[in-house]
Amino acid sequence: MTDAAASAETPVRVESCELCIVGAGLAGVNALFVASRYLSRSQRIILIDRRDRCGGMWVDTYDYVRLHQPHGLFTAGNIKWTLGQDRSYLATKDEVLAHFEHCLEVVEQRVRVDEYFGWTLESQDESDAIVRLTCTSSDGELMVVQAQRVIKAGGFGVMPNDPLEISSARITSVSPDFCDMRGDAMRASDAPVWIVGGGKTAMDTAHTLITEYPGREVNLVAGSGTFFSDRDRLFPVGSRRWWGGRLATDVFTELGRRFDGTNETDVATWLRTTYGTWLTPTTANYLLGLLSESENKTIADGLNQVIMDHVVDAVDRDGDIDLVMRSGSTEKVQPGSWIVNCTGYLLRGDPPPPYEPYVSDSGAIVSLQPRSATFHLTSYMGYFLTHLLFLNKLREVPLYELDALDLRNKSNAALPYVLGSLAIHNLSLVVDSTPNRVFLDCGIDLDRWYPLPRRMIATTRFMLTRRRRREHLRRTLDTVRERFDVRCGPLGS
Ligand SMILES: Cc1cc2nc3c(=O)[nH]c(=O)nc-3n(C[C@H](O)[C@H](O)[C@H](O)COP(=O)(O)OP(=O)(O)OC[C@H]3O[C@@H](n4cnc5c(N)ncnc54)[C@H](O)[C@@H]3O)c2cc1C
Repeated sequence: MTDAAASAETPVRVESCELCIVGAGLAGVNALFVASRYLSRSQRIILIDRRDRCGGMWVDTYDYVRLHQPHGLFTAGNIKWTLGQDRSYLATKDEVLAHFEHCLEVVEQRVRVDEYFGWTLESQDESDAIVRLTCTSSDGELMVVQAQRVIKAGGFGVMPNDPLEISSARITSVSPDFCDMRGDAMRASDAPVWIVGGGKTAMDTAHTLITEYPGREVNLVAGSGTFFSDRDRLFPVGSRRWWGGRLATDVFTELGRRFDGTNETDVATWLRTTYGTWLTPTTANYLLGLLSESENKTIADGLNQVIMDHVVDAVDRDGDIDLVMRSGSTEKVQPGSWIVNCTGYLLRGDPPPPYEPYVSDSGAIVSLQPRSATFHLTSYMGYFLTHLLFLNKLREVPLYELDALDLRNKSNAALPYVLGSLAIHNLSLVVDSTPNRVFLDCGIDLDRWYPLPRRMIATTRFMLTRRRRREHLRRTLDTVRERFDVRCGPLGS
């Protein structure tokens, strides 16, 4: 029998549902939470993810990762954590994954969710008001899902990093995703460690090494440097929650007011000096990461050396090992040293995913990914766009979309400030088109760190000025579109 004849005889499994969500990371579970507010128990939801459990990138990122924001603010909708820790506690990877499971359980008390973990969406096709998704399981089974609506929450495609490829066999090149800094191999060695990268993973790695192995030589090759938002200033603890710090809405609004689409250097300087913390002499990057002053000090004090350059290789030369930098300079490295690849995960898709609008022409397919970003974080996209979808307003509200991947390639420096302006612009439109409960249930709103009276003042200020400010934000985003020739505007522009 030919393969074609065999496949013609194999019945393809077909599942039908009201809503199919592809991606069970933070964006997907927020979409699921919102859907559970609109659908009844008799309306079936199918949840698909190629990973074998929910949690998205948290499933296979490095073991010593911790949340960088207070744990209560990382959730689906209004679902509370059950950890019983202080509100400022930074949850570990296992705790984050357990919270994802808890979120699923809570949602499943309201609606029927059929989970398909280990399944990958391969292709889609839309006709006669039905979306057909062709999916394959990890063991090669085929399934077609017929859905009235689909939310594709693939996020920024974060996958584990490989070790850096280096020529010398006399040093060990590792990736945090496959080598726990607290593990036996690292503990058994007292050789120097060279961390390559300057972002959140590099800081987590440096902090872990410095606190686990006091006195060990830890070096940082930090590229062009990164600054972080200072957690102490954005999330002050104790009574300072009543009078200290600054609410996220205020910071974003001020950022949006200052940025005009051309002055990212000035805005970065303002943000860094007002709310930032950093340890490298230059800080060309800002990736919305958080670090506390004490973490920053521990790392800065514990590092042996900080080099502002990019590692390209490690080579054996005349009996020595040279770490070769992009600038052409070299650094002697002791045999047996470790090189840890902390060069980052976000927006690195290779090849880049194709552009897909955040909502299809028919309004049935929502796509949450960087080529048509509507907020700075996918969790907000999952939360707000799903509300607009079920309110039948997603095609009606003139949200701006940004090709964040294209902009990153053209101007990494402008990207965070464009995302900030985009988020505030779109948020002001969502406020005008959705009921109050959308905001009352939004547990990922960082303002929730603060007591209610302070939140109410910030909200009132935002509400009073949003229309006027929206005009400025729109001009800023239009300037970005013209200046960088990137997609940045309403759907179809
Ligand atoms: C190292 C690191 C640390 C971070 N720390 C924080 C932090 O402390 N706080 C914070 O708020 N954010 C943090 N982030 C950002 C983080 O990426 C987001 O918070 C969030 O977890 C992303 O969720 P997501 O659902 O958009 O994407 P993901 O978590 O990547 O989930 C997307 C899911 O979609 C699935 N998928 C994609 N395509 C398909 C397909 N075709 N078929 C089936 N399944 C598919 C993937 O398997 C994946 O599970 C961190 C990121 C990194 C890389």
